[in-house]
Amino acid sequence: MGNRMELKSVIVTGGSKGLGRGIAQVFAREGAKVLVVARQQDAGEQTAKGIVDAGGTASFFRADVSNWDDVEAMAEAAVDRYGGIDILCSNAGIFPSARVEEMTQVEWDTVNSVNLKGTFFAVKACLPELKKKEEGRILLTSSITGPITGYPGWAHYGATKAGMLGFMRTAAIEFARYNITINAVMPGNIMTEGLDDIGEDYLRRMEQSIPMGKLGDPEDVAYAMLFLASHEAKYITGQTLVVDGGQTLPESIDAVS
Ligand code: NAP
Repeated sequence: MGNRMELKSVIVTGGSKGLGRGIAQVFAREGAKVLVVARQQDAGEQTAKGIVDAGGTASFFRADVSNWDDVEAMAEAAVDRYGGIDILCSNAGIFPSARVEEMTQVEWDTVNSVNLKGTFFAVKACLPELKKKEEGRILLTSSITGPITGYPGWAHYGATKAGMLGFMRTAAIEFARYNITINAVMPGNIMTEGLDDIGEDYLRRMEQSIPMGKLGDPEDVAYAMLFLASHEAKYITGQTLVVDGGQTLPESIDAVS
């Protein structure tokens, strides 16, 4: 256990699984009190219990980030349980696949509601408490998909991940007067439950396109966020950090073979 986040109150949306669970575990190992937020109770409680069993402080709160009442209640729960909010990790996201030709309005709206509107809701709901802190921090989980790359089936997803960065840049200017920083991590392909249904073929081909030859771990993203949440990162705001094993670097497949 370290102490880099000692006594900080941290909310991790989408904290029950995948990247969010990795973020919650790493921040808790550094002494943070973590509110693990997701829709499904079982997985969320299991993640929080795992952190507590390992000697950390965490609890689960059920919320759908696309629902304002839920998100407001989430912020209130962090205040009740942990005395305020120092850090918001807005990480909850979904990535269903649909090509533009077949994509329905409902599919477009659902992905936007969770990924983009959910980010706005979480930031807005936590802002009053973050303003009370000397060094409030907001971390967003964006993606390389959208801001840098494209992938068939993820036009709606990519639009939300690029949209999060547009939101962030203006929010960074607005929040600077409160000494709150807001930054985004842009993961490449990270091995999580979210990729369970994606198929072995996809994973093998993806590995071949990554200079480091393998997918990332949730901790790779979590440690990037830990830095951006630290006191040492106090003058960094409105920025992005790509965590992708070099995936966005090759000009062609020949560059990695
Ligand atoms: P995951 O394993 O499917 O986990 C997603 C998490 O978000 C779960 O905790 C899920 O819990 C929660 N969630 C989903 N919809 C929610 C909602 N409406 N309200 C509250 N919580 C919700 O996915 P992941 O791979 O860890 O992805 C996490 C984030 O990283 C996403 O924003 C994703 O876009 C981003 N990302 C992932 C990768 C990757 O390679 N894995 C790469 C780039 C970016 P419930 O279902 O119980 O709500």
